[in-house]
Amino acid sequence: MALQINPNVSRLRCSLSDRELPGPLFSLPVGLCRCCPAPGRPVVVEYDPEKVRAELRGTPLAERKVVGMWRYAPLLPVLGVPEDYAADVGGTPTVRHDRLSRELGVDVFLKNEGTGPSGSFKDRGLAVGVALGRACGAKRFCLPTQGSAGVAACLFSARLGMPGCLVWMPDGFQGSIYHRACEFFGGEVRFAGPNIAAAGRAMREQLRDELSSGEYVDISTFFEPGRLEGKKTMGLEIAEQFAGRPLPDLIVYPTGGGTGLVGIWKAFAELSDLVLLDPAHTRLPRMVAVQSANCAPVVEAFHSGLEQVMPVTSRGTVADGLDVPAAIMGHGILRVLRASHGTAVAVSEEAIESAFAQYGEAGVPAGYESAATLAGLLALRESGEVTDGARVLLLNTGSQLIPLSKA
Ligand SMILES: [Zn+2]
Repeated sequence: MALQINPNVSRLRCSLSDRELPGPLFSLPVGLCRCCPAPGRPVVVEYDPEKVRAELRGTPLAERKVVGMWRYAPLLPVLGVPEDYAADVGGTPTVRHDRLSRELGVDVFLKNEGTGPSGSFKDRGLAVGVALGRACGAKRFCLPTQGSAGVAACLFSARLGMPGCLVWMPDGFQGSIYHRACEFFGGEVRFAGPNIAAAGRAMREQLRDELSSGEYVDISTFFEPGRLEGKKTMGLEIAEQFAGRPLPDLIVYPTGGGTGLVGIWKAFAELSDLVLLDPAHTRLPRMVAVQSANCAPVVEAFHSGLEQVMPVTSRGTVADGLDVPAAIMGHGILRVLRASHGTAVAVSEEAIESAFAQYGEAGVPAGYESAATLAGLLALRESGEVTDGARVLLLNTGSQLIPLSKA
């Protein structure tokens, strides 16, 4: 079967105004909305619940034999990926960690995502983003990255036999594991500025003609709707893995662009609409965003009561994935934090390093961004915001091998 748009998709809407996108859906690669001031805001996919329900009545999720993340095909926007395209993506266990639970006085559940083919949870979003863009006619992708998303974009471009992805990284990443991994998977790498925001500006300036002609498609965080749909599968999995028992009280998430945080919440919303969440356990988790105190635009906006996230000047962080000074989906992240009665917490570089060491001692394979989530939970325990016996899920987004590969 060739790549095709899922007929269960009912419409595309702007994440800020909720307005439906006009025109034939997916006739070209989908970028940002046109209803908000330039450059526009992220576009979100919606599904026809009747069609999804009918499909799931035929084969319930629990009986679907597909290996990898396309077992959630009824709720993904693109179908027909080759069998080996994403068989090794997703399906990560969510397990209560006994030692950390004892040490912290709460039930700590870990979802370790560092086992994906590119070594991070970015695989989920880029697997869908690349396939969806390709189904809409994209010939080549480009994106700025803090590292891991670039690697995943190159890997999935290679898996579809597309020309190598064009990746823009911060200057300091020359010769890094990200640089070498992108080239390993056929990508072409350029460097600009201190972080993803600067790299993105340089990319859009230098590729203006290719982007406006459609020759290249920008697959940056939230600049197309597929990556959100891929990240959503983490939430679909969590709901399945907690079937028959209450969902966690809190989900703590290391927040750069925030795709996973918004995606997990979208999964819960879709499952609620489909009446697929266990009716005995419908209380949804409080969502918690963790950032480095050196780059904390979401934390600042949340505690200032804002509805948008204002860009900050990053002071740099060891957690590469958190060095994201602006969030184009900031409004969506803040809505999720507030709708879930969650919160946002900033942690110091020292706290991240210390939590990384604590993970190592406990045998947990996780990188600095994940260590930040543990540091965030420790901070919330200290402040009393998370009480004894709470059930807390920490998203571990990437492998310890990345920080350990650095000199
Ligand atoms: Zn809009």
